Amino acid sequence: MNSALINPIKIECPLCGELHLVDRRTRIATATIKGEIIKYQEEYYVCENTEDGENEFVPSKVMDANLLAARDAYRSAHQMFTSQDIINLRNRYGLTQRELAKLLGWGEATVSRYETKQIQDETYDDILHVVSEDALEAKQFLTRNKSSFDESRYFELATLIEKDIERTSSDYLTRRLLLSKYSEFQNSPLLTGGIELDIDKICNMVAFFASHCIGLFKVKLMKLLWYTDALFFKEHGRSMSGLVYQHMPMGALPVGHYELMNLVPHEEIYNDYENTSYRILPKEQYDDAVFTSEELDVLYRVFRKFGSYTGTDLADYMHNEVAYIQTADHAYIPYSLSAKVSL
Ligand SMILES: [Zn+2]
Repeated sequence: MNSALINPIKIECPLCGELHLVDRRTRIATATIKGEIIKYQEEYYVCENTEDGENEFVPSKVMDANLLAARDAYRSAHQMFTSQDIINLRNRYGLTQRELAKLLGWGEATVSRYETKQIQDETYDDILHVVSEDALEAKQFLTRNKSSFDESRYFELATLIEKDIERTSSDYLTRRLLLSKYSEFQNSPLLTGGIELDIDKICNMVAFFASHCIGLFKVKLMKLLWYTDALFFKEHGRSMSGLVYQHMPMGALPVGHYELMNLVPHEEIYNDYENTSYRILPKEQYDDAVFTSEELDVLYRVFRKFGSYTGTDLADYMHNEVAYIQTADHAYIPYSLSAKVSL
């Protein structure tokens, strides 16, 4: 049975009546929801003073959490908003449960119900998707239901949503610009590593290095990306990101690096009139689970090797790579040479 221990906790055990350590465990369970059999992760407790077969119990609070996990598994399987998606949406626009309900013109308890127990109807789910995908829609809902809010709160929320509109539309334009830069490489698999530019993947690779390295600057990041792509190509026959790299004085630099920096959280540090350093900031909700195990393996090996290098150390190291020595200034670095990476 695929059961895993979370931790032992001391409670008044309802089975044997003693105050003792019981094991909190999880396992994959099934539930029938809307006529469908759904697999989900269930939590349960085990008392070791009681004989097998009768030694399991689920406190009522945990029972509620299990029900929610089952419903969220159903929602995920149907591409519906999960309870966590709704919480993330509220946090993004700075809304409480009641405020999101008022903004959408729903009954005041509706959002709270969706976050804790009930699965939303399709129409309600469509609306959640719409206001999440397009902040302009959220703004329109807010305007429509303005009378449900205090004037000052209304203006606060309007400002928060407008900021989101600004950010998401500039991200959108930056992505379009990057894709247009890469359209000329469509038929050059040796330069792209055989895959289309994967902007989300790149943002996650940046987030990986930003959350693992202490103080990550642009010069170093660009080379970490190259080493990751080169090593991945060497072992899996394709790049991880689809980035095209150029031979530059400080090592490999991806085409579109300026646009890429605009897509990742960073701060600009002015050293003097001539020089600006870009420090990459760790992403708040970074999670290794966005990568496959093969990708993570390569990412961790690159990090273990170069994590403590400075940008200059790494540029010096890269200057000895075959891929660097055998390409001219400003030339694109083909993945056939990248595969000779020394790591
Ligand atoms: Zn017990």
